[in-house]
Amino acid sequence: MPGYLLAVLLLTALTQVGGLVLLSGLPLMHLIRATSVWQQRLWRGLAFLLVYLLSAIAIVPALAQLGGRVPLPCVANKASPLQPANFGYCLLMRNYVTPETHAHLLRIAQQFRQAHPDSTVRYLDANFPFWNGFPLLPHLSHKDGRKVDLAFFYQRKDTQTPVDFSPAWLGYWFYEQPPSHKEATCQDKQSWLRWDFAWLQPRYAAYEIDATRTRSLLQLLANDAQKILLEPHLQARLGVQATNLKFQGCRAARHDDHIHAQW
Ligand SMILES: [Zn+2]
Repeated sequence: MPGYLLAVLLLTALTQVGGLVLLSGLPLMHLIRATSVWQQRLWRGLAFLLVYLLSAIAIVPALAQLGGRVPLPCVANKASPLQPANFGYCLLMRNYVTPETHAHLLRIAQQFRQAHPDSTVRYLDANFPFWNGFPLLPHLSHKDGRKVDLAFFYQRKDTQTPVDFSPAWLGYWFYEQPPSHKEATCQDKQSWLRWDFAWLQPRYAAYEIDATRTRSLLQLLANDAQKILLEPHLQARLGVQATNLKFQGCRAARHDDHIHAQW
């Protein structure tokens, strides 16, 4: 039983409704009997996955819409050139926003596609499907359907060839370092929310930020969003200045691996 409790807590933190899906699926899962314990666990696990996927695809979007949230597109197409950096954001139902935020972001993605026909705007964590005030951890502010994180654009370091994916698996944690110590705004200011993951950085050594396309996206956001968060050294490097483009401070998650936008 503690195993189920832990799974419910974990699924709730990761997906918001996954814990509830597990609880409501338990009677069905317990109908499944097998000769060995492992076989039984396997079949019950698969039954849960099936119920979870059905909920994520068919039930949650319809219910979320009643509460004023809609999912961002999971696969980009011509009309909606927007997709997650990792399909997991859709599977974990972390891609919900208000219809207004959806419309703003879609328009920006379409404008971006016109300027860069081979590139797709990629989003990261957005919000959960339900309940204003329920934060999408570890982002404390992603709780009202109006916050979306967006991936930078990248190119190969050796040839400066643009790539249309995020070198980091999740789209987060590939940090752009400031050009010198002087620009390291948060140096010597420790915060448990400011992660460094120094051990992870060498993995992405073949890539660097594509300043042209990232600047393009940032400019479109600056013209439209209510507030954008980005580290000061990147604001300077990309050469975009706007009153709604701000620094989150040193006591918050860093914003030199993604752009935070809100409407
Ligand atoms: Zn954010």
